[in-house]
Parts: sequence; structure tokens; C-alpha cells
Amino acid sequence: ARDSALAETSGPGATKDGHAVPLLANVGGPKDLDAALANGAEGVGLYRTEFLFLDRSAPPSDDEQVDAYRRVLEAFPEGRVVVRTLDAGADKPLAFLPPPGEEPNPALGERGLRMARRHPDVLAAQLAALARAAAGLSVKLQVMAPMVTDAAEAAFFAGACRDAGIEHPGVMIEVPAAALRARDLAPEVEFFSIGTNDLTQYACAADRQVGGLAHLQDPWQPAVLDLVAPAAAAGVPCGVCGEAAADPALACVLVGLGVTSLSMSAPSLPLVRAALARHTLEECRRAAEAARGARSAEQAREAARSHLPGLA
Ligand code: PEP
Ligand code: MG
Repeated sequence: ARDSALAETSGPGATKDGHAVPLLANVGGPKDLDAALANGAEGVGLYRTEFLFLDRSAPPSDDEQVDAYRRVLEAFPEGRVVVRTLDAGADKPLAFLPPPGEEPNPALGERGLRMARRHPDVLAAQLAALARAAAGLSVKLQVMAPMVTDAAEAAFFAGACRDAGIEHPGVMIEVPAAALRARDLAPEVEFFSIGTNDLTQYACAADRQVGGLAHLQDPWQPAVLDLVAPAAAAGVPCGVCGEAAADPALACVLVGLGVTSLSMSAPSLPLVRAALARHTLEECRRAAEAARGARSAEQAREAARSHLPGLA
């Protein structure tokens, strides 16, 4: 058995009783790789590709894309890298892909996969560049779409991946409709990754860019946990890549809800690794049940903590 003190500070993520929970890094480009490697990430759980497309009037060339993707893929020869296709619109506006008309509510407008469907050439070029970047490498490349709402959209994306030679398609679960009906989406794809930032925004109808609504943008809201549960139980591996995964107590709760991997900004990895190593899967499940039984975010946090004795 691994030394438990060691398991708290290094190595793959796992609960105290050895239930593996891969710990992955969110990266915004090759510049974030050093921190991911230094903090023991087992791979990349969310590669936000928007950086390549920012501040330009035309998309990057195929070669430029291949080069940027390859640098991230090469960093984890034994691991996996989950790349998110372009998430343009709303809080991530891109000059060369403006919404087609006036949008009074950009968060509810053409963004993510909706924008990609309007510009299939941009999506196809990105998927082709990803397939080229992964050619000949041993890393497992998984590719997921943002802002997916229903099974038809998941099927569309999986088809586009197949056409480009991408073998492991997935979708983000960040729209409440997709979470509630996750069992409809699951047969279309290989995996889910829950984006708790947007899922919370949409569950609580609180724009993530409006600072005054921070109390409603709290992923401890029991309604958000109620949306995670069906996504995690839909029968395909289901990670979390929103900020919620970086909160050690909430990370335990997510694992208790059935989430299979956690991805976060790299500096948060050590605290989450330690929190998991100090609790059994059963403790995580009890913490999750207690949190879902609460009537507010604050009470959910407290209730979960009372079942997680290893947290300071
Ligand atoms: C999310 O919505 O939780 C997420 C991970 O994606 P982003 O914050 O980039 O929208
Ligand atoms: Mg999102």
C-alpha cells in the first residue's frame, strides 16, 4: 500500500480507500504547462483553446493550431488531454466570430457549439488540426464541445469528430437541460465534463459577469448539486472542470456524487489531492448526501464539512 502521507502530497489522485480520481489541470495554452507538471497533474482536463483566436480578425492558420495543440499533447505522453473546441461568444467574445445580430442576453445567445454550427468550416479546421497534432503520439486525445443543450447537438458534434478522425468525443455539461437529460446525451459520446461555472450561472439565472450576483454564482447551491447528480449517473465517465473542482470540500462532494475526474487550475491540485487522500469514498458519498439535503449553499457547505473530518 502506498504510504498515506505520500499519497496526500504526490502521485495520482485517489480517496483514502484507493478509489482513483484522476487529477487534471485546466490550461489556457502551452504557457500553463509548467505549473501543471510541477503540481503533478495527470493530464489536462480542460484545454481552453480560445487564446489562439483572441485579438485577431481571422482564424489562426492550420499550422499555427497544430503547433499549439502539439505542445500541450506532448507534455503528457502517458496521460490524457481533453481539448475543448472554440467557446466563442458571451464572456469570451472573439472579433472574427461576432454573433449574427443584436443579442440582448449574450449568455443565452450564440456561443460555444451554437456558434460552431453556424461556422462549420471553423470547427472542421480545428478538429482536423487536433487530429494532425495527435498523430503518432501516445497521449489519449479527448475533444469536447462547450454549451451543448441536447442529444441532437451531442450527435452533431460526435459526427464532426468522427469525420475528422477524432476518436474520443465528449460534451461539456453546462446547460441545465443537458444535465437533467444527461441520459439522452450519453449514448452519443464517450464522456462528459461538467462546467460548473456556466452550469451555476444557468441554474441560478445569474450572469457570471455580474459581480453583484456572486451569492447566486455559488456552486454549493443545492440546485447545482442536483444537476451534477444525473450527469454523473448517466453511464459515461463524467469529470468536472469548473472552479468547483478546486474547492477541497466540494471536490469530495463531487466524487461522492459519482464524478470520475477533477480538473482545475494547477495551483489548486495539491490541496484537492490531500483532501481526497484523507477521506473514503463512503465519506464523500455521505458528504454529498448531506449537501444535497441542505436548503442553501451555506448550509450545504457546513453539512458536507461535518462528514469530512480530514479537512482543516
Ligand atoms: C465552466 O463553464 O465551468 C467552464 C469550465 O468553462 P468556462 O469557465 O471556460 O466557461
Ligand atoms: Mg463554460
